[in-house]
Amino acid sequence: MSQINPQWEKEIAKRRTFAIISHPDAGKTTMTEKLLYYGGAIREAGMVKGRKNSKHATSDWMEIEKKRGISVTSSAMDFEYKGHHINILDTPGHQDFSEDTYRTLTAADAAVMIIDVAKGVEAQTIKLFKVCRMRGIPIFTFVNKLDRHGKDPFELLEEIERVLGIRSYPMNWPIGMGSYFSGVYDRMKSRVELYQTGTQHEEISFFPVEGAEDPLIGDRVGQELWQQLQDEVSLLDVAGDDYDEELIAKGELTPVFFGSAINNFGVQTFLDNFLQMAPPPSPKKSNAGMIDPYSNAFSGFIFKIQANMNPAHRDRIAFLRICSGKFERGMSVKHVRLGKDIKLAQPVQFMAQDREIVDESFAGDVIGLFDPGIFQIGDTLCVGQAFEYEEMPHFSPEFFSKVMVKDAMKHKQFQKGIMQLTEEGTVQLFRTHPMEELILGVVGVLQFEVLEYRLKAEYGVDIMLTRMPYQIARWLEGDKAAIDALKNKIVTDRYGRPVMLFESEYQLRVAMDKHSSIKFHESSLGL
Ligand code: GDP
Repeated sequence: MSQINPQWEKEIAKRRTFAIISHPDAGKTTMTEKLLYYGGAIREAGMVKGRKNSKHATSDWMEIEKKRGISVTSSAMDFEYKGHHINILDTPGHQDFSEDTYRTLTAADAAVMIIDVAKGVEAQTIKLFKVCRMRGIPIFTFVNKLDRHGKDPFELLEEIERVLGIRSYPMNWPIGMGSYFSGVYDRMKSRVELYQTGTQHEEISFFPVEGAEDPLIGDRVGQELWQQLQDEVSLLDVAGDDYDEELIAKGELTPVFFGSAINNFGVQTFLDNFLQMAPPPSPKKSNAGMIDPYSNAFSGFIFKIQANMNPAHRDRIAFLRICSGKFERGMSVKHVRLGKDIKLAQPVQFMAQDREIVDESFAGDVIGLFDPGIFQIGDTLCVGQAFEYEEMPHFSPEFFSKVMVKDAMKHKQFQKGIMQLTEEGTVQLFRTHPMEELILGVVGVLQFEVLEYRLKAEYGVDIMLTRMPYQIARWLEGDKAAIDALKNKIVTDRYGRPVMLFESEYQLRVAMDKHSSIKFHESSLGL
């Protein structure tokens, strides 16, 4: 490989690409907004929130989403901060939660997990966390809403470990909570960051101390809270986990920060620490071995396809994570699956609602490509020797419906529409055998409605959906004869892989006990 241009190397090394994972209402939007604010990418609060009611990207089927007050655009936001180029990947969290959200995590090099101090670890956080865990990316935790009364911090850490199976290292520790919230003690830098109600914490107000025992703390926050802090910090020092960069890098230990996003408290400290600890773009697996991000040759993969972002054009946008080298507008790349060269003429980046044409980008960045119908999730684009990145995983849907066309005369359009729309990746398609019935699986039920609407609007096809009682899908691997013996009970995914559907965890456990020669995978990763 030829020597990389040192300027590119610098550009790539300063990139930090991450996704924020949380349960709805934990504060993801608020946090994103504050981060963008620090990066100077927005000038006022409310700009990110505005996306939830965006008038911009309206089309009829998005109208469904709009009515429910859900964000419609979903993409990447980027900004420069203290010598870093930051890409935040948006992970839709409300009713529009879909498999896309999981897949977006495959394009992230790190994850930020936001937990509401009062609610602890919630359902959607668990699901998203599992995907991050599977990929072994580092996970940083921000415990939010310390200005409200919530769970005891020790109880929260215990919950994180018990429910998520990850150990934690509190980087700072709260001094009081709710109406007594006075600030945080920074264990790493031995300083106290003071919380003052009513301020927006434009400037961080902290003072250095000599450990938690420093009487200065008592002078500022009162004797009682100081005593409590000393007790808790000494307990942490004795009984807590040690700081271990290697475990953090592997996603086995999560650094934990406490703060209040809405009050802008602890956010900048979090960001500064995060940038120190989070990894730059790392090598990615392909069928030609690991691909070095610093390689001279451009490459990337499509991780998300979004339809109709601009209703006037009825176009699709394919989101590409650049994994190596440099992208330049107008460059010619190999579309490996199609075995064709294509020209990337009008790539875009997204900032809140606005599209902006990009001229150059580097490994770590995400760009949107106008898609005339040539891209599929998981497609690799590269320059030079052709190779393909690992296949994009599918994850277990939670809702299933049988789908049929109402008018048998429209069978052809129906097949075409179903194939094309499920290619976008928010709805999975399964086939029963020997009846060849079609079953759709989704992570969020809204996707059924969206699909129904789009089949009508874009293909002129009316469908009938019949909900099925399944809740879980498992990809089967192992003894072929044993899998074949289950024939009537299994369906196949769009690639013909055997999948079994279950109505409950109990059913799944029974099947696992009964068929010990078969592996039941939660996702199709690596199959
Ligand atoms: P998302 O659904 O995760 O994007 O959550 P949002 O950022 O929209 O926040 C949900 C609600 O929690 C909103 O009403 C926010 O104003 C509120 N919120 C966010 N951060 C804080 C915080 O630090 N303290 C308090 N008290 N409320 C917060």
